[in-house]
Amino acid sequence: MTSAPGSVTIVGASLAGLNAAEALRREGFDGPVTLIGAESHPPYDRPPLSKQVLAGDWDPDRAALTDSEELASDGIEARLGVRAAGLDVATRELTLDTGETVAFDGLVIATGARCRTLGGTEGLDGVHVLRSLDDCLALRADFDATPQRVVVVGAGFIGAEVAATARGRGLEVTLVEALPTPLGRVLGDEMGQVCADVHRDHGVDLRTGVGVDGISGDGRVQQVRLSDGSVVDADVVVVGIGVIPNTEWLEGSGLEIDNGVVCDPTCLAAAGVVAAGDVARWPNELFGETMRVEHWDNAAQQGSHAARRLLDESVGPFTPVPWFWSDQYDRKIQLAGRVRPDDEVRVVNGSVDERRFAAIYGRAGRITGVLGFNRPRHVMRYRALIEQRATYEEALSANF
Ligand code: FAD
Ligand code: NAP
Repeated sequence: MTSAPGSVTIVGASLAGLNAAEALRREGFDGPVTLIGAESHPPYDRPPLSKQVLAGDWDPDRAALTDSEELASDGIEARLGVRAAGLDVATRELTLDTGETVAFDGLVIATGARCRTLGGTEGLDGVHVLRSLDDCLALRADFDATPQRVVVVGAGFIGAEVAATARGRGLEVTLVEALPTPLGRVLGDEMGQVCADVHRDHGVDLRTGVGVDGISGDGRVQQVRLSDGSVVDADVVVVGIGVIPNTEWLEGSGLEIDNGVVCDPTCLAAAGVVAAGDVARWPNELFGETMRVEHWDNAAQQGSHAARRLLDESVGPFTPVPWFWSDQYDRKIQLAGRVRPDDEVRVVNGSVDERRFAAIYGRAGRITGVLGFNRPRHVMRYRALIEQRATYEEALSANF
């Protein structure tokens, strides 16, 4: 298919899928648009699920990104609570879990990712993952009960944010991480240690360099056994050990699947088929690297870009500087760029001791990233240098 499609089907009714639908209309596309989503809720935002909604500060409704009336008024047909079960690119057909077969013209794949789970915890009450609004409300209900000793497994984004929110609610928190520092895989150990200090200062019992050997209880969770032989009592366990892209339904579809849907630089996966958000892997030409990004800004931007690409084959490569924020306690942590744990890192503004600073990362003579603790302006300025592919020396002498 080389010309614009007559109709567009979007699978995945969350951030990337909704942004794709909205971009189609913004670009003047007036053909039928169908949004198919496995969850029964209209699209909602996930960041508040580990923060304001979990804290009990927001009603769940505040996380809504749209509602059925708004979708209908934009001429977007929402089929919610329906899962795509199969795809055949050659015959241009989707199979749904209702048993229906749906012909498509243009297709946006935006099925995101789901949580990894810890084996052996099935059927044990009080063990949670956090991805969906329903997950959040189940966890919040457990946080509302007493007594409350929370064990969080994995000090990645979910683990760090849930630990912060649980402490904000006055709960006792043990945070268990196999690596030497929280978020160490993302920030490197020097900056990971700053995060460790922040958690400990807020009363989290942080255990690093240890794994989980087992989670046990009689119907309900009671104890977590760690690999160093220690045992931690628990009323609630939150498992935050990463995600798996939702691509199983694409097996045999004719698309290339390799840790996500493999796309070209423009987000095209096959003729008339694009992918966006947590599920998409594409070569980002700005960095000369193939990436799959699991953050909000990417899902929003890539959803729009992929939709535009579907309408117009002259739309060029998708070349963002990846960017995220994470709110923990009273700190807004932001990282822009593409850093590796062994990159050089230097504080360029503020003070690590006061946890208000900007640090920049470099590798092979280039600036690769900027980390800010309550430094949004600096993050945006250094981000522009990353976009310009500035040298590390130029960035160090920028003096923002
Ligand atoms: P998803 O949001 O995963 O949505 C995919 C949708 O597709 C889901 O609704 C799913 O049910 C549906 N689906 C899956 N398979 C099928 C199928 N076969 N058929 C139909 N539908 C299907 N990022 C930040 O940058 N900052 C933050 O502070 C932040 N906080 C977060 C907090 C939490 C608790 C979580 C879970 C994520 C957070 N993120 C944050 C990450 C960000 O929310 C994700 O990157 C973003 O949601 C990805 O959007 P997506 O549309 O690609 O995928
Ligand atoms: P994550 O950020 O990938 O972190 C998972 C952490 O768990 C890693 O530190 C990982 O260490 C560790 N881990 C893996 N297996 C483990 C095990 N068996 N025992 C103990 N620790 C283990 O994933 P996440 O925190 O679960 O977050 C889920 C998704 O939501 C991600 O896509 C994330 O980007 C997104 N999210 C983003 C934000 C944000 O941007 N602010 C906030 C919340 C959620 P290894 O690296 O060694 O595997």
